[in-house]
Amino acid sequence: MSEKKHIVIVGAGPGGLCAGMLLSRCGFNVTIFDKNAEVGGRNRPIRLGEFVFDTGPTFLLMKHVLDEMFAHCGKNSADYLDFIKLDPMYRLLFSDRAVNVYSDRDKMRAELTGAFAEGSAGYDAYLQQEGQRFEKLYPCIQRDYSSLKAFFSLDLLRALPCLALNHSVFSNLGKYFKEEKMRLVFSFQSKYLGMSPWDCPALFTMLSYLEHEYGIYHVKGGLNKIAAAMAEVITEQGGIIHTGTAVESLLIKNKVVSGVRLQDGSEIAADEVVVNADFAYAMTNLVEPTELKRYSPEKVKKLEYSCSTFMLYLGLDTRYDLPHHSIAFAEDYTTNIKNIFGNKILSKDFSFYVQNACVSDDTLAPTGKSALYVLVPMPNNDSAIDWQSVCAEMREQVLDTLETRLNLTGIREHIECEKIITPQTWETDEHVFKGATFSLSHKFSQLLYWRPHNQFQELGQCYLVGGGTHPGSGLPTIYESAHISAKLICQKHGVSFGLAS
Ligand SMILES: Cc1cc2nc3c(=O)[nH]c(=O)nc-3n(C[C@H](O)[C@H](O)[C@H](O)COP(=O)(O)OP(=O)(O)OC[C@H]3O[C@@H](n4cnc5c(N)ncnc54)[C@H](O)[C@@H]3O)c2cc1C
Repeated sequence: MSEKKHIVIVGAGPGGLCAGMLLSRCGFNVTIFDKNAEVGGRNRPIRLGEFVFDTGPTFLLMKHVLDEMFAHCGKNSADYLDFIKLDPMYRLLFSDRAVNVYSDRDKMRAELTGAFAEGSAGYDAYLQQEGQRFEKLYPCIQRDYSSLKAFFSLDLLRALPCLALNHSVFSNLGKYFKEEKMRLVFSFQSKYLGMSPWDCPALFTMLSYLEHEYGIYHVKGGLNKIAAAMAEVITEQGGIIHTGTAVESLLIKNKVVSGVRLQDGSEIAADEVVVNADFAYAMTNLVEPTELKRYSPEKVKKLEYSCSTFMLYLGLDTRYDLPHHSIAFAEDYTTNIKNIFGNKILSKDFSFYVQNACVSDDTLAPTGKSALYVLVPMPNNDSAIDWQSVCAEMREQVLDTLETRLNLTGIREHIECEKIITPQTWETDEHVFKGATFSLSHKFSQLLYWRPHNQFQELGQCYLVGGGTHPGSGLPTIYESAHISAKLICQKHGVSFGLAS
């Protein structure tokens, strides 16, 4: 580059930070603006007195993708982060049995044999066939789909049979497993995308496969430390991060973005703008409606979105005997799913997830105390639920359910501090469109070429990263979105990408 180009990034979530890290390594002047006081977006910490919680992500899948992003910058992720591999990965609680899920193959076979009449018979075929599917599909996920030509690439054409277009994750698993609960062990992961296993495209069977193949990790101090580490790398490489600085709009002339206007009215010029703020929020708030066709506010509203979540973060003056991750299924799982995705109403009998990370990490709460994270999947804000009026009642129901399903007797007496996030506050405080915490739905018609392109198709000099863009929600895929956008920007400016592209 004869003269250093200036890249402005809107948002310091995982997507924006990863893009900032890669682009500052490639010699660009990088400036990031985030409205929050701290970096990380949904991946930032919540601090309540002496307790620390992750706001959102608690499962690090495909750690090697994160490692690769650091390697592109000539860094070793282990120099910044203390990774803890979890095995058992988590405990699943059905109304009639508990199943510990291991990435260790022998332990997993033994567990399935103990918990299910059909035993572990289908497990090896599942690993082998889903492994093949993953090998074929992952390169397609890492590609840019800015043009139809890219869509008709040889690797995607070869991978087409692996998409199993007429199958959902749940029906696909029928090839290996007979019992419904057995299939749920390998399909509930659709909820990581905020989808029902009965609707989630079969290709996402890879989510459970990835857990079994690569394991899952915790990071000491919480996964929020990843965001902090990325910010550190950006600063080391000369990038600048302005927290507490909201962007009001993109500066656009003749369908080309030339910078951003901040909320204080100042204008910052840029050669390229990377948008990390939630895609649908950004299209409906940061861009004049007349600038957009395919993603005009009316059309964005009509797209399909993931579910939302009700979050309860509890600082407790005691420690319960609970694993690091527990996932409890509603007794009537299918009705709960229908209420979340179809009827969009509350369920009294709900599935939920609890993280008790203090069992593996003593930095999150003082000795003898614990930081408990509770997530309950909920309808997104297409529902008519008035969260201000139902929030207190929902809190009581969640606490009652923790007592009965997890035996956390007397939990109310142990609460020192707490914070709640509802679908409504995801939307108002976190700028997540419709409170859909896992962004645009991952139904097939909103994937690959049909998901918002990383090189944004509606505006010049504008790139997209984050869960609402290609490839999709989840930390590894969000890092891939940053990787794709950074490579496209390098290509455009004739800069060779990183160390190991
Ligand atoms: C409850 C929950 C649990 C999750 N669990 C997992 C998990 O276990 N594993 C996993 O891999 N993924 C998980 N995810 C999904 C995903 O990894 C996270 O949501 C991730 O943080 C999304 O990253 P992002 O870069 O798309 O956006 P965000 O994290 O939302 O970052 C966007 C940033 O843009 C900023 N912004 C918005 N508007 C403006 C503005 N006008 N001006 C300036 N800045 C602005 C925001 O402040 C924010 O910092 C979870 C998500 C949630 C919500």
